[in-house]
Amino acid sequence: GRKFFVGGNWKCNGTAEEVKKIVSTLNAGEVPSEDVVEVVVSPPFVFLGLVKGLLKPDFHIAAQNCWVKKGGAFTGEVSAEMLINLGIPWVILGHSERRLILNESNDFVGDKVAYALSQGLKVIACVGETLEQRESGSTMDVVAAQTKAIAERISNWENVVLAYEPVWAIGTGKVASPAQAQEVHFELRKWLQVNTSPEVAATTRIIYGGSVSGANCKELAAQPDVDGFLVGGASLKPEFIDIIKSAE
Ligand code: 13P
Repeated sequence: GRKFFVGGNWKCNGTAEEVKKIVSTLNAGEVPSEDVVEVVVSPPFVFLGLVKGLLKPDFHIAAQNCWVKKGGAFTGEVSAEMLINLGIPWVILGHSERRLILNESNDFVGDKVAYALSQGLKVIACVGETLEQRESGSTMDVVAAQTKAIAERISNWENVVLAYEPVWAIGTGKVASPAQAQEVHFELRKWLQVNTSPEVAATTRIIYGGSVSGANCKELAAQPDVDGFLVGGASLKPEFIDIIKSAE
């Protein structure tokens, strides 16, 4: 089976004091064992070292981005090699906030995923449609094109978690219904089956993100193709513990 995966994307939030508080809440939380759920939290770059020093080893850490190739003269960027050097095992790539606000294209995200994997990072790769795209009926075309740009650059999906995050559900309180999430996750898995391999389709975790809360996580987690969550706002709150518990 696919082990349940819960990621907390802290985005561009927090002071050092707040980060310490969140970590101590997480460390004290009574959650299912590592055999049942994989928990990864993603602080801003500047807090990675702080969180690494404080977080209990049952939980893992992700950066929120990294550079598309080997480091060098790229002012303001952080390379995959640096994350590996610091002992950060995961990175989130292709988040819709970077695709839409920073104009990251499907190809650029695909290149980033391939490079990060080549350096030994594990990747949470995000896909998702805007409200306009959903309303015009192109949801599957959009997420398939985003996934294809990754699939044509990698052959080994072992270290990839695919996050379906509909843009209209992010930070809006308008969570996808369990049926809406399941429909896209099912289609994505089918896409993987046809375009990669049945094995990749059966083993790759597809997690949902967008207004996930302690109140709605159980119903979503019960969907057969929802293998976990990528949580934004609620990952900064004690409620994140309840979301981790939805694994069982
Ligand atoms: P919210 O949970 O705040 O809607 O954010 C979801 C998200 O973008 C996680 O990456």
